[in-house]
Amino acid sequence: MPELPEVEAARRALARVAEGQTIARLRLLHPSLARRVTPARRRLLAGRLIERVERRGKHQLLHLDDGRTLAIHFRMNGDWDIGAVSDPEPRFMRASLELESGTRVALTDMRALSTVELFDEGEGAPELGPEPSDPAFNAHTLGVALARRRGAIKPALLDQKMVAGIGNIYASEALWVAKISPKAKAASLSAHRCERLVQAIREVLFDAPAGRYWAKHEDSRWNVYDREGEKCPRCGATIRRIVQAGRSTYYCPVDQKS
Ligand SMILES: [Zn+2]
Repeated sequence: MPELPEVEAARRALARVAEGQTIARLRLLHPSLARRVTPARRRLLAGRLIERVERRGKHQLLHLDDGRTLAIHFRMNGDWDIGAVSDPEPRFMRASLELESGTRVALTDMRALSTVELFDEGEGAPELGPEPSDPAFNAHTLGVALARRRGAIKPALLDQKMVAGIGNIYASEALWVAKISPKAKAASLSAHRCERLVQAIREVLFDAPAGRYWAKHEDSRWNVYDREGEKCPRCGATIRRIVQAGRSTYYCPVDQKS
């Protein structure tokens, strides 16, 4: 599944070809996508200028010069395939944004779960919490948000209203870095542990590509994710997998404390 750094990379690739460009047409090839934006609304996109491509959480938002916003979410398997309108259509192309420049931005998705939505001016974009990089995301605000939650910390972290853009992989990884059990009660996390968790989230998300986090364990991208039965890189205990709210969670049962 594309996680936040991958979505940010996709946004940058899209921005490079699309910002300041004019839309020729939007094609929605998959029925589930076509249902969401009527042909009449789609036709009105022709001739619109793409002013800016922004990322909010894992949504990519194309801000148009008429105030509308085109929002794309890759869900499980989506990706961009950027080429020319005259190129052969890529496999699993579900939608394509054709620009007057001759560029075709194809949304490819084997499982066709990606979404494309068109918001009118003022309708706003999806409801999301602060970005992990935002100073508004800190130990205090996290503690306040968690205090209202029932249940365990791991599923709470996946709630995009809590903090935007943390996916299943990074939720497990951040809890491991912070030495917090995924089963710990969200509402009773101490201020000190909230602080550690905020730092851990930033570390796994933003230090990732170039930083120490990846260099430390060169044999694998992850410390615990998808490593059930292997040794914890920190203490050597056996990594476990549990299912929380229908999603796999990986953790070290020894040094991640409830
Ligand atoms: Zn451990």
